Amino acid sequence: TKIGIDAGGTLVKTAYRKNETILYQTFSSYNLGDVVSWVYESFENPIICITGGKSQLLSEKLNDSAKTVVEFEATSRGIQLLIGEQYESLKTNFLFVNVGTGTSIHHVNDMEQQRVGGTGIGGGTLMGLAYLLTGVEDYARMVQLASNGDRGNTDLKVKDIFEGALPPISGDLTASNFGKRESMIAQYPSASDILAAIIGMIGEVIVTVSSQMAVQYNVDSIVYIGSSFRSNPLLREIIDDYTRIAGKEPVFLKDGEYSGAVGALLSL
Ligand code: ADP
Repeated sequence: TKIGIDAGGTLVKTAYRKNETILYQTFSSYNLGDVVSWVYESFENPIICITGGKSQLLSEKLNDSAKTVVEFEATSRGIQLLIGEQYESLKTNFLFVNVGTGTSIHHVNDMEQQRVGGTGIGGGTLMGLAYLLTGVEDYARMVQLASNGDRGNTDLKVKDIFEGALPPISGDLTASNFGKRESMIAQYPSASDILAAIIGMIGEVIVTVSSQMAVQYNVDSIVYIGSSFRSNPLLREIIDDYTRIAGKEPVFLKDGEYSGAVGALLSL
């Protein structure tokens, strides 16, 4: 059996075929031994291709029997396959933004891809700031808590500054993330509010950087992938809204977080 593996900074994603469908699985990057056990226990004759930052490390644990490929190539290859299945109409000129532990931005044009930028603000920022500000360590719990949060208790909107006067830009835009200091001093926000505000800040930064890249590279669509969207509808919603406000078309691929693993699988 051929197996594609994307060993990232936080999560290891795998993809393999069974009866013409691709099956996916996720492991923690902190227990690479689990991946090795899974491979040898589940498959009789595994043929493996690995990509991602931890590919060297994982390859050594697999006795160097695996092939490795460059992450950006694998990801764009996987993405093309998923887009072909899900968005046939998408033109071959788009950006894809991989919101993993960190965020990286790529331009794809006629099968060629180029990394054009990125930001350290990503899924890892959520994990770290959530821990520092609320003590929550568990991912499922932080996204669940965030879903009940109210950013109105932490974030300053343009209309909060203009207080009734007509603002020159939409009053609903965020003027300052975590900028509602006076009101936070009067009443300390709840963990849910703080978590929602962290996710809001991350989403808005990612769109600000990505949409400017989209203008620079003259593309209409931004394809967002990465495990940071997993069980996190709030992040998706913020990115969806902000991308549209920036005049670009957001695309969220189903199974997009497995693009690297799919690309590795296709390289075999
Ligand atoms: P990488 O390839 O860098 O590991 P991913 O695309 O896998 O990046 O995304 C990692 C991010 O996904 C984490 O920073 C976190 O925000 C989010 N995430 C989703 N599910 C989990 C989970 N079960 N455990 C930890 N983080 C998760």
